Amino acid sequence: MPHDLLTVVVAAYNEGDSLPLLHPRIAAVLEGLESQGVTGRVLYVDDGSTDGTWSVLQGLAAGDARVGLLRLSRNFGKELALTAGLDRVDEGAALILDADGQDPPELIPRFVELWQDGFDDIHGTRLVRDGEGWLKRATAHAFYRVIGRLSRTPIPADTGDFRLLSPRALAALAQLRERHRFMKGLFGWVGFNRTSIPYHREPRAAGASKFNFWRLWNLALEGITSFSTAPLRLATYLGLATAALAFVYGLWVIAKALLWGDPVAGWPTMMAVILFLGGIQLIALGLIGEYLGRLYEESKQRPLYLVDVWRPAAGVSSRQV
Ligand code: UDP
Ligand code: MG
Repeated sequence: MPHDLLTVVVAAYNEGDSLPLLHPRIAAVLEGLESQGVTGRVLYVDDGSTDGTWSVLQGLAAGDARVGLLRLSRNFGKELALTAGLDRVDEGAALILDADGQDPPELIPRFVELWQDGFDDIHGTRLVRDGEGWLKRATAHAFYRVIGRLSRTPIPADTGDFRLLSPRALAALAQLRERHRFMKGLFGWVGFNRTSIPYHREPRAAGASKFNFWRLWNLALEGITSFSTAPLRLATYLGLATAALAFVYGLWVIAKALLWGDPVAGWPTMMAVILFLGGIQLIALGLIGEYLGRLYEESKQRPLYLVDVWRPAAGVSSRQV
């Protein structure tokens, strides 16, 4: 019976408290995968943690030969940490899991079943989000609706990074080297056979969420500017609408002057018009700036991330598989 390989990729930033709870759950699931004809291993990516995460990870690797470790030179953020991890999966499929236990590893066998049925991108869709406030839920809901409308790339709603990528989906993703990475959009761009598994998102096992509102807002901006130029078009329409209004108003001013003469007056109207136009212009400039800034960062062609330590899993070499 041919043996497939599955690597569970976990990005961890200051997750020293969660990882010891998570690893036994993953390990138990990996053992069960053997009956499905799949050899499993885990790759933990330490995204420049400043707590004890790295020593916790070293402990896990010492006790389990299926564990591979990757440490980045500093904190690069979840999207790049995941990219770094996925870049190092050179064989078999990869499954992305959060380090905090919010994505239950016990669902992995379902993902593997669907992979064996021929799907390439199997993603978990959240039914319930426990332990997250109404504001986070409401804004997340709104965000998925907005990006769904604006972007031509299919981005499934309420879908996080909990997903399995087949070898060919993984290879396709590896070709997308943009610096501003909105992973949900990149997964969507790849396409192939996609399906979703509805699941119950649990509260965090330990520690606190790394994503405050400011980071989520920036992630949302990233998503929209990476996958849509609709805001630029909006600026054009806004400009056209204002110009049309200004033209009509200009006609009215001229007509008024011809009919009733032109006493010097109208300071309030002038101020209103100047301020309004100034505001519109600044909005348009800001929009252009958002895109231009991203273009600038892409053009620098820096590497996406830097690796400090890379230790592949010792136990399962590709020859044994
Ligand atoms: N994470 C990371 N780098 C960061 C921030 C977060 O690797 O800079 C990881 C984090 O350790 C966790 C996952 O990304 O495994 C999701 O983070 P978190 O639970 O804070 O986000 P939430 O579930 O609240 O959206
Ligand atoms: Mg979380």
